[in-house]
Amino acid sequence: MSPANTLGLGISIGCSLAFIYYCWKQRHNNDPQIFYREKLANNNNARTVPPFGIFVKESEKDNLALLKHEMIHWRQFQREGLLKFVFGYTMEAAVNGYDGNKYEIEARENETDYCKENYTECVRNGRSNTVFNPEFRNFMSQT
Ligand SMILES: [Zn+2]
Repeated sequence: MSPANTLGLGISIGCSLAFIYYCWKQRHNNDPQIFYREKLANNNNARTVPPFGIFVKESEKDNLALLKHEMIHWRQFQREGLLKFVFGYTMEAAVNGYDGNKYEIEARENETDYCKENYTECVRNGRSNTVFNPEFRNFMSQT
């Protein structure tokens, strides 16, 4: 291998190890950084992006239920690790969509004490603001 290739390989391995170490450190971080942004992609109000932190739209700064929701996603990342969480979440989304995604349901249940105790009611009457498809509310009304 040429010296340039060896250097390149060294840098690649170094960066990979640094990223793995960063992921490991973040997985043990119970107080993730919150990034406030004027706008988020796909018009989201918030999004947890492991291993980096939680992104929140500035206008939602005081939305405690939303913050609690995102913290559950952070806990899911901590519980499962980056790869399992991202893979599991993506598979759930493919099979059950957003509203029926088990990771979203767990997060939604923990938004407020009310939702924790009355999950079905919480979804049905719109107390949770993280249900998007009206059909999902209707579906919950039938069960
Ligand atoms: Zn969510």
